[in-house]
Amino acid sequence: MTSVASWLSLGEGSTPLVHARRLSESLGCELHLKCEGLNPTGSFKDRGMVVAVERAVQAGARAVVCASTGNTAASAAAYAARAGVEAVVLTPAGATAGPKRAQVRAVGARVIEVRGSFDDALRLCRELGERDGYVVVNSVNPDRIEGQKSVVYELLEQLGGAPDVVALPFGGGGNTCAVAAGFAEAGVAPRIVVGQAAERTTTWASAIRIGEPAHANEVAELVAAGRVEVATLSEDQLRGAWERLAKEEGAFCEPASAAGVAALERCVESTLSGRIAVAILTGHGLKDAEAVAQPAEVVVDATLDAVLEVLS
Ligand SMILES: *Cc1c(COP(=O)(O)O)cnc(C)c1O
Repeated sequence: MTSVASWLSLGEGSTPLVHARRLSESLGCELHLKCEGLNPTGSFKDRGMVVAVERAVQAGARAVVCASTGNTAASAAAYAARAGVEAVVLTPAGATAGPKRAQVRAVGARVIEVRGSFDDALRLCRELGERDGYVVVNSVNPDRIEGQKSVVYELLEQLGGAPDVVALPFGGGGNTCAVAAGFAEAGVAPRIVVGQAAERTTTWASAIRIGEPAHANEVAELVAAGRVEVATLSEDQLRGAWERLAKEEGAFCEPASAAGVAALERCVESTLSGRIAVAILTGHGLKDAEAVAQPAEVVVDATLDAVLEVLS
């Protein structure tokens, strides 16, 4: 494996692998959560981005450019700031979560909202990447995939061996390819189950709101080779898994990150029974705080009686 960058690192990787006791019981397997939201900018994207930006700088890039539903932008912007190059971010207008926009602005990236979908933004990004000095740092950049493989080595070490099943979300498919490649390199072949939204272009899980996955062909080849299974999830299934992760495990991830667990919940129970499974939780819950329903506020007088009355 390529060693992860040095001078540009913000401390990506080494994320916790946590045993999900209650979800394990309901799934009938031994489930562990790989908490990628604990990366420096709050998503797994940092693993690949540090490599991609370092190599772009080495190649003399003036700017890195990406199309993003939010997390790629937040990550690219942070590493570009640290490297002292410009980051240009093309996002679908009005379709990214507020905290992700804040991350991008805080570190000084140039944000251009495109009247169109993520797919339109990616097309423009690729066109811009043809111009001198611009390097595309979406997952179509192979350095991203290279860096993202590190999650596999880490979880093998943390688990002390290979899991039987690994589950993750399928948006553009870059991470699916990286994880499959990582396991192939490590010489182990767990079942890889990926969850995509049935309503790809409109799903509530904004990080996987991608109509045309950039890696669709590669994922199709992995499926044909029997290495990857794709589960197509309803909005209710996504939301249900996201709520159970939070309410039964205290694992507050962003909506898209629950797609792996939702995919596991779709697996035939007997195929999971007694198996060791790892779900990759791709991003932090605070990335999309608005996804959490706002209950009516409870305001009381500053007396114990008033508090007890609410609790009774
Ligand atoms: C990017 C992202 C995904 C989708 O990953 P792909 O490589 O596009 O399939 C899923 N979850 C989160 C939180 C992401 O940021």
